[in-house]
Amino acid sequence: MTNLSRIFGANGPLAEALEGFRPRREQLEMAEAVSEAIDTRGSLIVEAGTGTGKTFAYLVPALLSGRQVIVSTGTRTLQDQLYHRDLPTLAGALGRPVRIALLKGRANYLCRHRLGVALAAPELAGVGAGRVRALRHIAKWAEVTRAGDVAELESVPEQDPAWALATSTRENCLGQECPQYRECHVLQARREAQAADLVIVNHHLLLADMALREEGFGEVLPGTDAVILDEAHQFPEIAAQFFGQSFGARNVLALVRDTLAELTRAGLLEAGLRARVEALEPRVGEAQRALAGLGERVEWERLPDAFLESLDELLDGLEFLHAGLADPELEVPGVRQCARRAHELATRAREIQSRAAEDGLRWAEWTPRAFALQFTPFEVAARLRDFRAARPCAWIYTSATLAVGEDFSHFAARVGEADARTRLIRSPFDYERQSRLYLPRGLPDPSDRGYTAAVIDAALPLVRAAGGRAFVLFTSHRALAEGAAALRGRLEERDRFPVLVQGDAPRDALLRRFRELGNAVLLGTGSFWEGVDVRGPALSLVVIDRLPFASPDDPLLKARLEGLRREGRNPFFEYQVPQAVLTLKQGVGRLIRDHEDTGVVLLADPRVRTKGYGRAFLASLPPMTVIDAAAEAIRFLRDSLGSLAPLETA
Ligand code: SF4
Repeated sequence: MTNLSRIFGANGPLAEALEGFRPRREQLEMAEAVSEAIDTRGSLIVEAGTGTGKTFAYLVPALLSGRQVIVSTGTRTLQDQLYHRDLPTLAGALGRPVRIALLKGRANYLCRHRLGVALAAPELAGVGAGRVRALRHIAKWAEVTRAGDVAELESVPEQDPAWALATSTRENCLGQECPQYRECHVLQARREAQAADLVIVNHHLLLADMALREEGFGEVLPGTDAVILDEAHQFPEIAAQFFGQSFGARNVLALVRDTLAELTRAGLLEAGLRARVEALEPRVGEAQRALAGLGERVEWERLPDAFLESLDELLDGLEFLHAGLADPELEVPGVRQCARRAHELATRAREIQSRAAEDGLRWAEWTPRAFALQFTPFEVAARLRDFRAARPCAWIYTSATLAVGEDFSHFAARVGEADARTRLIRSPFDYERQSRLYLPRGLPDPSDRGYTAAVIDAALPLVRAAGGRAFVLFTSHRALAEGAAALRGRLEERDRFPVLVQGDAPRDALLRRFRELGNAVLLGTGSFWEGVDVRGPALSLVVIDRLPFASPDDPLLKARLEGLRREGRNPFFEYQVPQAVLTLKQGVGRLIRDHEDTGVVLLADPRVRTKGYGRAFLASLPPMTVIDAAAEAIRFLRDSLGSLAPLETA
């Protein structure tokens, strides 16, 4: 018996230490693959079906390896779960003391320099009266905190705008020139990470480290033997955003505030400099007005001349400020940093302006309060490949949704890992017994005006049979609003099932309520398709309105489709279908979360049967029993819910 099979076995340390642990062949299989990848410094892409226990399947070999490992997650929830729950439990069970570090983004750590600047010149730093009180709380806490983690200070919530003045960004950090460098909490957290055996980060931070974007601070990656990416399906999207560029009104206005505050603090704010700084604000306003009325996303070719002219003036103004601040008499680190920022901002905007059309997509975003220029590259695989080549170690990607059917090539191509080993680990759940996939017949085409109403009509008898206990997942906000209006009236009045709708309260509050109520119907889109774990009968029905093709108006999607077209490839079959398949797998995955869970997925979209590509969707779902009669779905719900099912379900 190998060490791993003993650890994951019926009499192993996990079974002994963890209540409810059951040995799973699938979990051991994954752990062995991960262990081999770490030993050989190879690349591995592994899809682990729900219930595999994938977290332990990668953490155990990581802990046993004795090497330095980075675990990167897509969400903060998983980061916290790993750090506070899974790793201490496992380290205890395995009897292995390990140094673990949780590394967060800069915005999570107090910046002593910026706090000092904001307190010295609150009006110029843009601090309103209400925020001064919050800043004072922060200053008091700053005297005692060791880690400087903003989550420690409960009296000032993380979303309080005062934190923007007491934390740093890559742009405004002074790095080694900072007078507080030795006490810097960002630096301290990175040092602790470098000394740890296992470091937990998120995908943004990992990419920042890969790109050496955190100038002035050492990288965490060089000493690493393995990088494990959980929730890896999110990684390509985050990488695309990360390798893009943006220049926005907000960057300029923040620079104006910081420069005035730094100059004041240093006693250097004379009239000429003040005029150069303050001249930027009206220029931002002109550019902002020139874009008004053109929509929230304006394609580059449609940018009006008036906007381009005011943009030029704004960039000239930034360079003029840079020249003014570069005066050797102003040799104060905070001011010098503002000078650099002014130059960098102008350079970045000019780089976006001069990008070639074949490099990526450019556009402007506009809201009544601000505008931003954006650039997104067509593909990021080559850059990711270069980073990995420069830092050879094991790269392990895992998630419940990486393969289309049994094919990993879509994901592998997006992250530039065409030669990686792949493993498809099936869920240990008995889907045939535990669930039904109901594909109703006779629904109109999704482009039909009455489509959403027809989906609601098809869903209602099942919602009633389940006694509420349903998620209704939409692919657009418009359909969500229409569905909510239709369901609220019919369910709340007649059946008394509480209807919870995305947007009524924060996501976590809605989910908490859903679990507590036990007979609620939750309607959502976007973020409710993934990362939601409701076990037991509280969730017995998942209704999906359409195949989740991403909106063709999304500029990121446009950029990628255009990139594929240029290569002579078929973007629909090579990108849109596989992406939609992965999203559908996430949505369907909400239903069965445990060996005892049962329920029905109602997939309303008729294209899953009528279109050729529908097969790719069905072949990628867990092996649920497919049915097409409402009566059968209702019977299954009533039988499996037993005494929990309402008496009258018609
Ligand atoms: S080094 Fe950067 S983050 Fe650290 S205290 Fe100074 S400005 Fe703030």
